[in-house]
Amino acid sequence: EPVPPDEPARRLAAQGVQLVQLVYADVLGVQKGLTLPVLQAGAAWAGGVRVDGASLEGFIRVEEREMRLRAGGEEVFVLPWTPAEARVAAVPAAIDTRDGRPFDGCPRERLLRAVRRLDELGVAVELAFEMEFYLLRRRRGRPEVRVPDRAGYLDLSVRDAGEPVRQEIALALEGMGIVVESVHHAVGPAQHEIDLGWQPPVAAADHLMVAKRAVYAVAERHGMHATFLPKPRTGSHGSGLHVRMRVRPLPGAAWSRPAVTRHWLAGLLHHARSLCAVTNPLVNSYKRLVPGFEAPVYVVWGRDTHAPLARLVAGWEAGELEWRAPDPCCHPYLALAALLRAGADGIERRLEPPPPLEENVFELDPAEIAARGLEPLPGSLGEALDDMRVSGLIRDALGEYLFTRYLEAKRMEWDIYRVQVHQWELDQYLPVF
Ligand code: GLN
Ligand code: MG
Ligand code: MG
Repeated sequence: EPVPPDEPARRLAAQGVQLVQLVYADVLGVQKGLTLPVLQAGAAWAGGVRVDGASLEGFIRVEEREMRLRAGGEEVFVLPWTPAEARVAAVPAAIDTRDGRPFDGCPRERLLRAVRRLDELGVAVELAFEMEFYLLRRRRGRPEVRVPDRAGYLDLSVRDAGEPVRQEIALALEGMGIVVESVHHAVGPAQHEIDLGWQPPVAAADHLMVAKRAVYAVAERHGMHATFLPKPRTGSHGSGLHVRMRVRPLPGAAWSRPAVTRHWLAGLLHHARSLCAVTNPLVNSYKRLVPGFEAPVYVVWGRDTHAPLARLVAGWEAGELEWRAPDPCCHPYLALAALLRAGADGIERRLEPPPPLEENVFELDPAEIAARGLEPLPGSLGEALDDMRVSGLIRDALGEYLFTRYLEAKRMEWDIYRVQVHQWELDQYLPVF
């Protein structure tokens, strides 16, 4: 029996929800949303709600003024920090064209396509995010990069101002049905990590969106400033978004699990450089990908390798990998769409990974690095964009519409940045030259 279209909204109303918020990520991954009184929200599940294209900045060409926001699925997240008398349920939304067709520029739709393609290949993947962030104090309303604690990895400290905040975020997520594997103080002072549970790709991206919002919202209530900026402090660890992946052949597929995992890894490594513009989207992202802070710098993989780009968690049979380049400012849907396409490419072309690197790449001298053909990750957003621009795979993963607009916007960002004269240059050079 088909579910009546306003059933989800009626159920929410019965749960005491007053407002339904259709949320999506724009071209650059910034969260946006349209809020409806719950009694009007049935339309979200039945064909979608009309939105003025002009308000969907970045999405709309002039001739596509009107679009539709539609509930992407059944999953809703009742945001516990919203007041009881104006309780909000967030619903991950898809963007359709005005006549109700899937829109090429909808990032969630791009990820769905990447998943369908894997499905056709006879492969399923599950993902789990390791989300890192800093909790900063505020002084006169502005975030202070001077940190509120001196704690480090796994520390438990009464002076760790972030600990109760981190715990409250975890409980908020659990309350919304977002599984949290564990939480801990990360390596940097005032840096925290929340590891989310295993999910299929689209749910993983949906959950990440809501989880980031929970981090901001709960921190705010404690008067703290949460930031996912990949490198908020010179000389401290950056914040990554390691993506753990479990790849497995579907029943009846022609692949064995070890083979699928090997090809998957090889595909990711093959496209490692061009993936960066999507998984590491900010100028600041490349200040994290430097030696000394456990972040990856070279295209190397291993099991116990220091700061690898990819880590084989157990054996090939277990099929679990950790991809360590991404940072939490990446577009969740587009980053996963690109990663999935790269893995699928490895399977389609039966690529094999190079041998693992057993030694510490940072202890090899440049000649050795060159002799082994070890490639560095891009050193700047500009470099990453150059790689992305010529990548047919990324173009295919994002689709023409998003590929073009993303590249254009990011190129502009890089061009604005690179002509700025920074304080460091003045301090360093003015006295001497
Ligand atoms: N925070 C580090 C990164 O930038 C990694 C530290 C860790 O989780 N091992 O990826
Ligand atoms: Mg970590
Ligand atoms: Mg990790």
